[in-house]
Amino acid sequence: MAEEIKENEEQEEKHSVWHGFMDKYPILFQQRNLPMNRTCMCWGIECPEGWYDTVKDVCDKIEAVNNTVGKTHHFEIQAVQVKEKFGTLRFYLHSYPQENATDEEMETARLFDEICEDIVVRAEYLTESVCQVCGRPIFEGNKVVSRGWIGYYCPECAEKKGVIPWEDIPKEPCPPPEEDSENSQDEASAQ
Ligand SMILES: [Zn+2]
Repeated sequence: MAEEIKENEEQEEKHSVWHGFMDKYPILFQQRNLPMNRTCMCWGIECPEGWYDTVKDVCDKIEAVNNTVGKTHHFEIQAVQVKEKFGTLRFYLHSYPQENATDEEMETARLFDEICEDIVVRAEYLTESVCQVCGRPIFEGNKVVSRGWIGYYCPECAEKKGVIPWEDIPKEPCPPPEEDSENSQDEASAQ
């Protein structure tokens, strides 16, 4: 049974859109083969598949920086962690200037680090408006926010996955403080 589950997981990983994804961005994802005590990139891209286009767009842009101004000005922007948190994307970057970089190169690296940070932040906001299963745009009115483990879905995917929407959480009234009042009554009568 355990072996079966493991096999299923391996099959899932092979069929995942993220399988082999990092290999297309060798500079950005060069930490992918480092051990877990050096980087979180060893866990791969821990994101739902519906974000594929959003994440790919970020990676295309940052790798373009690496392949152009990064090469001429001797710095690299590398991903240190890409994951989902509270239903949205978290894409952590770090810029690495070469050891013998000049002041001007250091300044250029810092500037492009900020530019890439802006690209990432926009993408992180965008994932709130994309179904995490199918990648379709969602907006107020057709957006389903799951309760518990927060996620954003289109109505069709939410139904297929049996997602319980946030607004369907039953409003349970606060239990009356019966025990407390009994206790205090007991205490009062004991006095
Ligand atoms: Zn969907």
